[in-house]
Amino acid sequence: METINKTKSKTNSKSKPKAVCCHCKDIEKKAKHRLKINILLCDDCKKLDKYNLLTKTYAKTTYFLEDEDIQNLNFIKAKSTYGMSTYFTLEDIKNIFCNKYAIDNNNEIENKIKELNDIKEKIQEEKKSKRMSKNDKNIMRREKLFNALHKVGLVLRDDSKLCENYINGETKKIKIKDIVKRMCQMKYLFEYCHMDECKQKALEEQRETLEAWYFPDCYVFDEAERMALNEYSYGEYPEIYPWIIQEQTHDKPNKPVKKSKNKNKI
Ligand SMILES: [Zn+2]
Repeated sequence: METINKTKSKTNSKSKPKAVCCHCKDIEKKAKHRLKINILLCDDCKKLDKYNLLTKTYAKTTYFLEDEDIQNLNFIKAKSTYGMSTYFTLEDIKNIFCNKYAIDNNNEIENKIKELNDIKEKIQEEKKSKRMSKNDKNIMRREKLFNALHKVGLVLRDDSKLCENYINGETKKIKIKDIVKRMCQMKYLFEYCHMDECKQKALEEQRETLEAWYFPDCYVFDEAERMALNEYSYGEYPEIYPWIIQEQTHDKPNKPVKKSKNKNKI
């Protein structure tokens, strides 16, 4: 391999004027051009609060400031890893912070930030435990409802709005026994009283009523419920539901009226 030995000629090199730090003006220190603020600074001076830049987001989150606290501050727009960012000097941010939290000594800043962080953490923990306990309550209500339904031979249906609202604590005024009662009625209507057909019939009747320019005097569902009970259950719900009788006697069921799938969300 051939080695090329190059000797740099120094004869033509013109010495550049030395970059001097704008702040300390110490010619011994190497200064660099700081792009964002467009001045020459040495490594020591660039750390000073008046040259140290913080992004807006960092300043707000670290120093517990809101937009209105910093709206009148001088800022620099410059590129960051995330695109264009707004920068403030640490000096300005610290001043704003001291004003906002009534601190007159710069040394107290760290303590105050620690105090604010502790408060923030405490609030977050409280929120978390509140969420947890809400979740626990839901689990408890679900179990209670599941057991209550199970006692009367029903399963907890995922498609039931009524059950869902109870579990989520949205129907505080409705007692569990009323929900169980209604769920029994629904099973009875749909599985023993041809509720789907009755709904269809009620819907047609209401359509006819509307076409004749009258307003129906009740909801389709209520009308269908009345129809189903009248036609298949002597106008009322039984005292003991057929599936409970079956369970109690362990006998073959009396032939129920044709089963229909409950597609209705209640
Ligand atoms: Zn300097």
